[in-house]
Amino acid sequence: MAKIKYNTPIVEMQGDEMTRILWDYIKEILIEPYVELNTEFYDLGLPYREQTKDQVTKDAANAIKKYKVGVKCATITPNAQRVEEYNLSNMWLSPNGTIRAILDGTVFRAPVLVNGITPYIPTWTKPITIARHAYGDVYKNSELRIDAPAKAELKVTYNDGRVETKQIFDFKGEGIIQGIHNTDASISSFARSCFNYALSTKQNVWFATKDTISKTYDHRFKDIFAEIYELEYKIEFEKAGISYDYTLIDDSVARIVRSNGGFIWALKNYDGDVMSDMVATAYGSLAMMTSVLVSPDGNYEYEAAHGTVTRHYYKHLKGEETSTNSVATIFAWTGALRKRGELENNAELISFANKLEKATVTTIENGYMTKDLAGLFNKQGVEVKPQNSKQFLEQIAITFDNI
Ligand code: NAP
Ligand code: MG
Repeated sequence: MAKIKYNTPIVEMQGDEMTRILWDYIKEILIEPYVELNTEFYDLGLPYREQTKDQVTKDAANAIKKYKVGVKCATITPNAQRVEEYNLSNMWLSPNGTIRAILDGTVFRAPVLVNGITPYIPTWTKPITIARHAYGDVYKNSELRIDAPAKAELKVTYNDGRVETKQIFDFKGEGIIQGIHNTDASISSFARSCFNYALSTKQNVWFATKDTISKTYDHRFKDIFAEIYELEYKIEFEKAGISYDYTLIDDSVARIVRSNGGFIWALKNYDGDVMSDMVATAYGSLAMMTSVLVSPDGNYEYEAAHGTVTRHYYKHLKGEETSTNSVATIFAWTGALRKRGELENNAELISFANKLEKATVTTIENGYMTKDLAGLFNKQGVEVKPQNSKQFLEQIAITFDNI
């Protein structure tokens, strides 16, 4: 059969360790037999980042701006031990941090659901996607310990000379204070990323803060979301048959637990940090969690939510067999290919991506899975057949050819 073609390249970012190995297997076994891959290749593996003084990471991020779609393998974020291991001239920054800073985006994380792996909240039959604002609040705070009676004030000195002050607290003894901030620009870009992602995945958006208590700070988030929705997205949402709803964070948590999933839960930075660990754990495994960075001007970067699985890589280097789960990395590829298909109205490419995802899930549902899932899986009449890293991919290819 002729291979599927598409016009504009996808930015391909190769990575490190075990995921680097899986990356090549996935291409060889599941993609290249069916698709004539057209990628602009950037090697973000640590040795080449070192060789280019990390320029390759910036070049890759700028290429995503140019081509709009990228797919990234997990990469090492160097620490002191890695500097020694790889003989680095510098403790290079996290590639994800660098790419986020250049693209200015919001990170969306969603679990891959499999019949046979029951979430701890069994009514969650559809995925819940967390959209976490990744700027400001408590992550960029200034805090002080108060060690004696004191008056604490907020003070703002404007560039035009105006000064505004407000009492925080009149301390009679020891205590603590904290100052936090956010910007209209960052909140607006967060809102647009959420609304664009909702349109691109045809899901409702729920946004939650605590504006009844934080009447200026959290209220500003609520207002910006509402304004941008009304002015820029309402008509498109109605056309797509999806909705935007705002609720208080505590009410939202109660509603999420009672829900069946299938929507985007937009959260401020801290709420998103806490709730994404809760949601990921409730669905089963980090190796089944997909992740995409969406920028406000519509660039998409797909990756797995997990790291380079170092422990398995060292086993692999010793010639031992590994059983590393490639699902999140396969879904990074299918996400990028589907997005490219959508941008080019390429129905064949879209249906390839959908079919590969279906084949992946069906393979697990038929009992073929890596060891991390074997202990979680429980489906009447299906025997678990643990696979090594490569066998699992070959099994998916067999399923793909048979559905
Ligand atoms: P990790 O690579 O996510 O692995 C932690 C453990 O989780 C593994 O040892 C393994 O448990 C399990 N695991 C994760 N993914 C798995 C998969 N696909 N299949 C099977 N098991 C899986 O996290 P880490 O060991 O903390 O970090 C390793 C490196 O990844 C670090 O250098 C870090 O900087 C980098 N990292 C990169 C990204 C990214 O690029 N997005 C994200 C996080 C971390 P068992 O060993 O028990 O089998
Ligand atoms: Mg966290």
